[in-house]
Amino acid sequence: THPTPRVVEDVAKQLLIGGRRQDATGGRTFTVDDPATGRSLCQVADAGPDDGRSAAEAAAAAQESWAATAPRARSEILRRAYEIIIARTDELALLMTLEMGKPLAEARGEVAYAAEFFRWFSEEAVRIEGGFAPSPDGRARHLVMRRPVGPCLLITPWNFPLAMGTRKIGPAVAAGCTMVLKPAPQTPLCTLALAGILTEAGLPDGVLNVVTTTDAAALVEPLLRGGLIRKLSFTGSTQVGRILLAQCADTVVRTSMELGGNAPLIVFGDADLDTAVEGAMVAKMRNMGEACTAANRIFVHSSVADEFATRLAARMSALTVGPGTEPGTDVGPLIDAAGRDKVDRLVRDAVERGAKVLTGGELPDGEGYFYPPTVLVRVPRDAGLTGTEIFGPVAALFTFDEEDEVVRAANDTEWGLVSYLFTRDLDRALRVGERLETGMVGLNTGLVSNPAAPFGGVKQSGIGREGGRVGIDEFLEYKYLAIPAP
Ligand code: ADP
Repeated sequence: THPTPRVVEDVAKQLLIGGRRQDATGGRTFTVDDPATGRSLCQVADAGPDDGRSAAEAAAAAQESWAATAPRARSEILRRAYEIIIARTDELALLMTLEMGKPLAEARGEVAYAAEFFRWFSEEAVRIEGGFAPSPDGRARHLVMRRPVGPCLLITPWNFPLAMGTRKIGPAVAAGCTMVLKPAPQTPLCTLALAGILTEAGLPDGVLNVVTTTDAAALVEPLLRGGLIRKLSFTGSTQVGRILLAQCADTVVRTSMELGGNAPLIVFGDADLDTAVEGAMVAKMRNMGEACTAANRIFVHSSVADEFATRLAARMSALTVGPGTEPGTDVGPLIDAAGRDKVDRLVRDAVERGAKVLTGGELPDGEGYFYPPTVLVRVPRDAGLTGTEIFGPVAALFTFDEEDEVVRAANDTEWGLVSYLFTRDLDRALRVGERLETGMVGLNTGLVSNPAAPFGGVKQSGIGREGGRVGIDEFLEYKYLAIPAP
């Protein structure tokens, strides 16, 4: 037997509804696994549709008084929660590594990133502004104000278990919205711990309700059609996003959708190769490649293709794969067997079609869902991974000759979240940066995520932005009063 780690034991594993921790209807629970071993960590409450409805009712009941709470009070709650998260970085990081797999150093990085959304939105909460203007004919005055959109449903994925929560909760709290939060079933523990922190920070009962469940479809659909929820903020796959958009249509629920990506990373012949290799490592290997921002297709100019591939393969093969809790681990396990099988399938498909493996590419034996850092070169453009999120530590390299050709190839996808480009030519950077059909472009960097910047995609990568000055807008409505001129 394996003793339950202390940080796991300390998490309240019940639902949070109206300020009360409670069991799921019928006392149902589900297992949370450690992806480094495949073994169970603990059981958490498995909510059904009735629990979902109770949570939405609690959020609706709390909405009016929460909207009337002073912005400064809402701001201070976020600020206190920020301080608590930072003070508990080590515990939260360990919890994250245990349920999700990423190495502790990366988990600590995510804790800081996650906390920053609370600090950022604590600063935005007190800057919600309206306007006052005379009508053009001078006969009326328009008083414009901003109001919270109302009770929100927040659905988060497993890959950034803490930051995907704070990125939605932060602006919702700042705007004065109440919430029902449904985390991914693979990683409910960080969300439950976060709810505890917000309660400690003074968040009133019913403002944040948490429902953990294995049957998201059964719980979510009635909420989106039920009339109490006024807004959906979803981060997950494009496939599920489409289903949810359709469900939102009936009652005209507002949506923010952060969906999949298929990021191109382009290395031009004039790029600084050290910078490009470093950027590719970050864009590819952050979170073991399990990020919607991950470089999915790496296009390298033919004049530097061999050198870039050799250097990247040397960096990738030097990484240490192992449990995220072990010191010195660079690459943890993937989230589960299904995630690893998908990566393996995509690599084998590419190889069958003619790609060459420079490093990695073999499934290891033993427990846990590990996959080695892999570099593929001469990947044919019809390989399955060119149109699928790899979501694993696999760098797929293509070569190109002309700027126009690579821009067209980069844009040849239904997704449009982020792209990365490496060049020392300023004109080219601006020209290509404008032509790439993505919501974000990393220029000589492999990292674009920042709470102070508007994160989001175009095309089928999503609707709306999270973070930045505009992040709070997703949770606010305009309202105006028409007044006769005095
Ligand atoms: P991933 O493939 O990364 O797990 P998903 O889109 O499947 O991405 O999951 C993202 C989130 O959406 C998770 O919280 C998951 O439980 C939830 N989800 C999955 N299917 C549905 C559905 N039919 N309705 C509502 N939520 C869903």
